[in-house]
Amino acid sequence: MGGIALMLGYLCTQWLAATRRYAFESKRSRLELETLGKRLEILNAKVQAAPEVAWNSFRKFTVARKVEECADTYSFYLKPHNGRPLPAFKPGQYLTFEVQPPGLPKAQIRCYSLSDGALTDEHYRVTIKRYIRDDGKPGVVSTYFCDDVKEGDILNVKAPSGKFYLDVEVERPVVLISGGIGITPMLAMARVLTHLNDPREIYFFFGCRSGVDHMFREEVIELQKNNPNMRLHICYSRPSETDVKGEHYNHHSRVTIDLMKEVLPSSNYEYYLCGPGPFMDSLVAGLYEWGVPKKDVKFEAFGPATVKAGPKDGAAAPADGAVSAIEVEFSRSGKKVPWDPECANLHAFAEKNGIPIDYSCGAGSCGSCLVAIKKGNVNYDMEPGTEVDEGSCLTCICRPAGNIVIDA
Ligand SMILES: Cc1cc2nc3c(=O)[nH]c(=O)nc-3n(C[C@H](O)[C@H](O)[C@H](O)COP(=O)(O)OP(=O)(O)OC[C@H]3O[C@@H](n4cnc5c(N)ncnc54)[C@H](O)[C@@H]3O)c2cc1C
Repeated sequence: MGGIALMLGYLCTQWLAATRRYAFESKRSRLELETLGKRLEILNAKVQAAPEVAWNSFRKFTVARKVEECADTYSFYLKPHNGRPLPAFKPGQYLTFEVQPPGLPKAQIRCYSLSDGALTDEHYRVTIKRYIRDDGKPGVVSTYFCDDVKEGDILNVKAPSGKFYLDVEVERPVVLISGGIGITPMLAMARVLTHLNDPREIYFFFGCRSGVDHMFREEVIELQKNNPNMRLHICYSRPSETDVKGEHYNHHSRVTIDLMKEVLPSSNYEYYLCGPGPFMDSLVAGLYEWGVPKKDVKFEAFGPATVKAGPKDGAAAPADGAVSAIEVEFSRSGKKVPWDPECANLHAFAEKNGIPIDYSCGAGSCGSCLVAIKKGNVNYDMEPGTEVDEGSCLTCICRPAGNIVIDA
């Protein structure tokens, strides 16, 4: 049985155990137990239907529903166009889309996290916020989704992927921390734990400016009602006059490390973070300073990664002084240049030298910047979110480990 089926099998066992716990501990009504039993049956059916691999390349999905969550933020409920069953995903993973907004010369690739985590769902859901660039212009693809994509449209979607996910088998209490649209993977995690009736403690911190951009408010409150182990901490940095403390939000502040220290009984949790660059930089650094081991701090960047995790375990970092002696050869362009240690990654170095390599997420997730390595090796700054073929590298998150020849 494949990995997905194995995971679903495990979830089934958990669900069954949860159902029994319900029976003995909560003395639930017969009707409720029957409903739970039905859900287990559906889950079992999914185990049987789970394919070995989700699917390769792009698959067609129909936009079944489009829902406005808050200002400039929409959820898209996606159903497979061929009507066949949907493979399960791990809470925290994302989908990769290929879209062609009008007026652009070529198709664009972007990743969007799955924001739903209901195991029996017949759809996938992503939630997209209109991105505003540093120059004040709206982002191309997020704007296309917000303004143009409508119910009934068909989209090209790659299978769920990504290494940033909650491992349901590790039974440690979790702290889910998000800012703005970074809530999407956290919502999927909280939903899966709740639907599994998982007994672990969940601290859910969410930060936004005010009630205007407080997305999923009702959904998260509903989750909390169904999960006595979930503790909500909503932070508004600039509440409006109509926002009521204690009703709409809990803290008039940003999500900070001091708040964590105040609220959490200890630092001994597994932490999952997703949000804007400065938010992640300060919180990740704060958690490390607080003594939380690096292995317990997991984070995802939605844009070019600012938080560096250091070279992947086992990756040989070049010795000091050896870095500037490294030579990078771009075989297709016939260019050989000494590596510039100031460059954040191989993609930035190629760009600096006028070598075009496709690029999209800047976070090792979408696979756009993949190039073949003809000779040599690379070190990654962070774990790639997508599978990297043997003999290739994701140039947006790696640096050469020594002399290297790449097909660009
Ligand atoms: C794994 C992953 C999951 C994601 N999940 C979501 C999600 O659930 N919901 C959602 O709305 N978005 C999500 N994103 C971001 C999304 O993929 C797009 O980057 C975003 O919609 C902007 O694309 P655009 O075409 O609108 O902007 P563009 O026209 O591409 O302009 C954005 C430009 O700014 C740069 N940039 C700098 N910082 C950031 C940043 N923090 N985010 C995006 N771009 C940045 C980009 O490199 C790019 O050049 C996710 C990204 C990744 C990598």
